[in-house]
Amino acid sequence: MTTPLLSVRNLTTEFHLPDGKVARALEDVSFDVLPGQTVGLVGESGCGKTTTLMSVMRLLPASGRITSGRALFQGRDLLQLSEPQMRAVRWKEMAIVFQGAMNALNPVMKVGDQIREAIELHNLMDRDAAEKRVGELLEMVGIQRARRDQYPHQYSGGMRQRAMIAMALACSPDLLFADEPTTALDVMIQAQVLQLLKEIQKELGLAIVMVTHDLGVVAEVCDSVVVMYGGKVAEYGTADAIYNAPQHPYTRRLLASFPDLNRPGDTLASIPGTPPRLTDLPTGCRFHPRCDVKVEACETVSPPMLETEPGHYAACHLCQGREARFS
Ligand code: SF4
Repeated sequence: MTTPLLSVRNLTTEFHLPDGKVARALEDVSFDVLPGQTVGLVGESGCGKTTTLMSVMRLLPASGRITSGRALFQGRDLLQLSEPQMRAVRWKEMAIVFQGAMNALNPVMKVGDQIREAIELHNLMDRDAAEKRVGELLEMVGIQRARRDQYPHQYSGGMRQRAMIAMALACSPDLLFADEPTTALDVMIQAQVLQLLKEIQKELGLAIVMVTHDLGVVAEVCDSVVVMYGGKVAEYGTADAIYNAPQHPYTRRLLASFPDLNRPGDTLASIPGTPPRLTDLPTGCRFHPRCDVKVEACETVSPPMLETEPGHYAACHLCQGREARFS
């Protein structure tokens, strides 16, 4: 069996809000990322996708606390590292591409200089070698070297996102986190950026964890999918299993609410109700206020995570399987 590059286990994160309330943003989140694999974190806004990335990268705002869990990356628990140790891991071993490249890039600095700065900050490279690497990275993401001296506003949205990917790859990480990397882009450019990520992944053997609310993106690029709801994992399995044999009622509703190119005549069904407030989570199954197949136990008893098929997990009282053990 392939050893995972990253194993997240029982990750639980809270935010302490100014009004004294505590938002339970993540509870018992577990999943694996294999080398060279793409894992999609999906779910509606506020379900904990981005908080999962930020917890693993240890980039939570001051109000955030990881209260329990592990994030084993290449043999080390990232949650136990000191901040200087963690700084050595970020960018060199794992990097992140944020959504909205215009906000992430410095508007008054040439794009090439920003990439070079990222290289120089983390690598013991002299200026000439770093400059050579800038050219290589721009080419890798399909930007002409001649555009190195332009500013972000002179780039299109797709090019800016490519530049962000180049910057994230500056130190040749093994794992790339991509937080809604195509959200602000139109459909054509979105497809190009996804294609680019796939090519880079193949070329570099990179593992990617992609946060998205777009199940079309997941179908396009992901090997495994973690479906999140109200800060917990609702279902987790291969992309094939999640798409073709979804077990959890939320996953089914989510899939039914997205257009399927293979079934153009299908009517899209929205999920009634709204996701739970993390400061006021429902008892029992967090999906029960919106679930149209709930049974009595759903309102009071939190469903355990079950392994319904080897490698396919779902947390629902209606599912059959043995209780999952994530070691
Ligand atoms: Fe619906 Fe109950 Fe399953 Fe939750 S546990 S998804 S409420 S059936």
